[in-house]
Amino acid sequence: MSEGSSSGFTLDLSDDVREMRDWVHEFAQNVMRPAAAEWDEREETPWPILAEASKIGLYSLDFFGGQWFEPTGLGTPVAFEEIFWGDAGIGLALTGTCLAAVAVTGSGTPEQIGEWVPQMFGSPGDVKLGAFCSSEPDAGSDVGAIRTRALYSEATDEWVLNGTKAWATNGGIADVHVVVASVEPALGSRGQASFIVPPGTRGLSQGQKFRKHGVRASHTAEVVLDDVRVPGRCLVGGKDRLDARLARLAGGQAGGEQAAMKTFEASRPTVAAMAVGVARAALDYARDYATQRVQFGKPIGQNQAIAFMLADMQASVDAARLLTWRAAWMARQGRKFTRAEGSISKLVAGETAVRVTEQAIQILGGNGYTRDYPVERMHRDAKIFTIFEGTSEIQRMIIGRAVTGLDVR
Ligand SMILES: Cc1cc2nc3c(=O)[nH]c(=O)nc-3n(C[C@H](O)[C@H](O)[C@H](O)COP(=O)(O)OP(=O)(O)OC[C@H]3O[C@@H](n4cnc5c(N)ncnc54)[C@H](O)[C@@H]3O)c2cc1C
Repeated sequence: MSEGSSSGFTLDLSDDVREMRDWVHEFAQNVMRPAAAEWDEREETPWPILAEASKIGLYSLDFFGGQWFEPTGLGTPVAFEEIFWGDAGIGLALTGTCLAAVAVTGSGTPEQIGEWVPQMFGSPGDVKLGAFCSSEPDAGSDVGAIRTRALYSEATDEWVLNGTKAWATNGGIADVHVVVASVEPALGSRGQASFIVPPGTRGLSQGQKFRKHGVRASHTAEVVLDDVRVPGRCLVGGKDRLDARLARLAGGQAGGEQAAMKTFEASRPTVAAMAVGVARAALDYARDYATQRVQFGKPIGQNQAIAFMLADMQASVDAARLLTWRAAWMARQGRKFTRAEGSISKLVAGETAVRVTEQAIQILGGNGYTRDYPVERMHRDAKIFTIFEGTSEIQRMIIGRAVTGLDVR
């Protein structure tokens, strides 16, 4: 689509999106919020909440897929903002599967999408999870350094995976794992491919479960792959496509997009929307508190120092949301992020969430510093948004390259 050809631009949400937003908000308000502190303390996947979300159709391929393909592109950011307004830890437990689903829907064949993506969500009464495993102990920001190897066995038409993955959301407890591995190590990230590891495959096990600063209701763990054998049809996109890409690279031509990068690029505005949700939650709480807490005979919100802080918080949340919606809208219109718009949304929203949640603690004073009030948890949760799916430094690197046209390192 050429620039400027979309005459129907509007920031009004469609009736469908507004209805969906209100429905998700109700779940966030009535189910997630009351459970947030408990699951943060327990540091466990909130299975009963997932079951409830599955029962009403919120934790489902239908819901997330429906929002992903919503015509304006705003369905997903609106839904994710509401979910994370409810609670980020439970929110990540509810949405972590989506990254694995996007890895398959973005690059997989129709058969792979039909076979594996529904299995990642399960059904009401039998909830399942998906995990996307790219990061490794020695390959975080540097995705090209992935050491997990995938070797093809012609005789059995199987891929054999060996390696250790770090930081996998739902790692080891998911039914379907999508694993990024190196097929041609000499080609770095361009020699990588993604593999679906079906439920119950031998050789895949959970390593260390990480105890975290925030988003503690979301399970994060190492995944160990010890001679994991998966059928040839589990190579995402299929072998013909991989062979053609490797042949192009061997011939000195461009090989196309790299598997993990494609997944992260698509998910950046979605992660930005999560951060906007957390920032808005902290702003809401601090605003209400500032109108009620009285010191020196008047609500603290009557002091410019506090009102200006709230004004800055509101302005930054709105700005972050607009950047998020722009990126999501562009992605839905099939426009390329020529100025790194996806990274811009993630960078600004992530840093906004950290700043706004910190300001919220300041507004609550001593109360804000305790676990009796939710802004302390929101601040811990917010920090993840400057780290995962590309740190703020990596986003700046990508934006810097787009701005300068130089090979910024
Ligand atoms: C809760 C949680 C959930 C996660 N979920 C998943 C998941 O589901 N799947 C998955 O694959 N991964 C996941 N991750 C991993 C996450 O994406 C990585 O932690 C992230 O990419 C950073 O990698 P790293 O931790 O190895 O940090 P490093 O890459 O070691 O970075 C450390 C610091 O150095 C900086 N740095 C690195 N390189 C440069 C550079 N070139 N220029 C400037 N600064 C640089 C970074 O910005 C950072 O500040 C998750 C992580 C967490 C904490």
